[in-house]
Amino acid sequence: MTARCLLASAPLGLTYCALASSTIMWSRYEGGVAFVWFASAALLARLLTLRPRHWSSALLWCGVSSAVATSLFGLGPQAALPMLLPNLAEPVIAALLIGRVAAPSTAFTTNRRLGAFLVAAVVASCVSGLLGAAVAAAFGSGSYPVNFLHWTTGHALGLITFTPVAHYIARGAFVRSLRRASTVRVLELAGLTLLVGLMTAGSFVQNTTPTLFLPILPMTLAAFRGGRLAAAISVLMLTLIAGGLTLEGFGPIAAIDAAPGERVNFLQFYLAATVLTILPAATELGRRRELFRALRESEARYRLLMESSTDIILNLGMNGDIRFASPSIAQISGCDVGSVLGRNAVELVELRDRQAVKRTHIQALANPARTFIVEYRAAVRDGSARWFESHTRAVIECEQVVGVVCAIRDVTHRKAVEEKLAHAAATDPLTGLVNRRAFDAALRAATSSEEEGSGCVALFDLDHFKQINDRFGHAAGDEVLKSFALQARQCVREGDTVARTGGEEFAIILPGASRLQAQAVCERLLEAISNAVLVIDGKFIRVTVSGGVACYQRNSSPATLLAEADRALYSAKASGRDRLAFAA
Ligand code: GH3
Ligand code: MG
Ligand code: MG
Repeated sequence: MTARCLLASAPLGLTYCALASSTIMWSRYEGGVAFVWFASAALLARLLTLRPRHWSSALLWCGVSSAVATSLFGLGPQAALPMLLPNLAEPVIAALLIGRVAAPSTAFTTNRRLGAFLVAAVVASCVSGLLGAAVAAAFGSGSYPVNFLHWTTGHALGLITFTPVAHYIARGAFVRSLRRASTVRVLELAGLTLLVGLMTAGSFVQNTTPTLFLPILPMTLAAFRGGRLAAAISVLMLTLIAGGLTLEGFGPIAAIDAAPGERVNFLQFYLAATVLTILPAATELGRRRELFRALRESEARYRLLMESSTDIILNLGMNGDIRFASPSIAQISGCDVGSVLGRNAVELVELRDRQAVKRTHIQALANPARTFIVEYRAAVRDGSARWFESHTRAVIECEQVVGVVCAIRDVTHRKAVEEKLAHAAATDPLTGLVNRRAFDAALRAATSSEEEGSGCVALFDLDHFKQINDRFGHAAGDEVLKSFALQARQCVREGDTVARTGGEEFAIILPGASRLQAQAVCERLLEAISNAVLVIDGKFIRVTVSGGVACYQRNSSPATLLAEADRALYSAKASGRDRLAFAA
């Protein structure tokens, strides 16, 4: 314990001494214990702002103060030391109990914490009362049970009514909130406090009418308008004014025809009941006010996000009706927010993509924990179709799915790049025909297609192509390849696939074609090639081609089919080239 620590607790020591002395002098009755004990509340409030290892200087100061107050104004010097223990044990027990439930600095911010504080105050008062009542009975007057009852009620009341205010003061929040508040607010708080004071005094200076309910009205108003701090101050004022006047023989409680001890007990229960009504209400109001502020801040952040977002944010109901659309919808799609509200979102989607969008909506509703992505086309105001990507997720309110929220982005540019890349990956750059990879995929699709069922595949290989390269050059060879591609394209129907599968090797898939139809197409191609004369650099180039055809049924294996067509091609080559052969 440093000298600085010791000095820092000096104001607390003096406060404790003043509170203990004044309450003993003012509120001790029937020679026993005090009607209300505020000193423990001051120490408890201080302990709640410190870590337990820093408690020693506060306890030392309050211990000395307790001994002084008991010696000078209470049961005398002989009771000073025995009284020290219950007086210090009480706030220590309460602080330890409160610390078990929440961080002590947040002791009064929720009703759960307030509940913990109330329980801690009662338990600590009972525990200290066990010893305190014995000391009072030994050195003062009254029996042990009476002293115990008076001690526990007086101490619990003191802790409950004064600790919240003392805690505000101890952690500097009182000064801070007054500094932060506007003049009007400070005046309002002062007015409310004055009103509580006046109404309480008004009720307790007369003893003709039982107006005990009157102070509750301004106290409730103070709790509503001024929050937890105003409520805590009103509680303290009620205790001081009602307690003071009653002990001086004024007010409706003093007029009760009963022993002084019973009247004091009634006053204590009246105060406790009022406190237990006002403090939880103020705490709940404070919590809601904070919740409301957090909600407003979050709403402002959300609005900012909406207004500055380049994505369209849509909130859809269970059926897909648009409940909210962010302003960006006007900029991106050209639709006004007002014109889309209430419409079904799927109406904005092109017909061909509606099924996919509907499916995603249903999936999102059924799987609230997941986000679903769907791409679709939609016409914008100038009539052009643009690609959009929607990230869709369910909205849950009170544990029930009530719709979805969609973050939608224009991905037209990305789709164009993707399409270009996909086209390049599937195309032979020299001839513009589909390449081997795309041909394999097309053959897989054709052999498994439910619509066409059967068809033919033909493989072609230019005859003696190496010699063309050798005689006329590679560039001329390329022209021959291009010319074949052109002729092949001209011979087939729409829906057939012409591919360059290798150097001078080509393939055609003829879905739905019979053997005869395939033969006719292929022979026409062979004839066109053999009749064509290419003139390159003044030189005449003629070329022939051989072909092998295999027919397939639904679910034929592409690999087997190609092997059969290849064998047929080999036999065409072997039997003299410039001809067609069919797989057996
Ligand atoms: P066959 O009648 O038995 O098919 O004989 P071929 O000469 O056509 O067959 P081979 O496999 O011996 O030769 C194929 C040639 O095709 C060899 C290669 O230089 C040429 N080739 C492959 N790709 C290209 C290309 O992109 N451009 C050109 N100009 N020639 C190519
Ligand atoms: Mg070849
Ligand atoms: Mg060849």
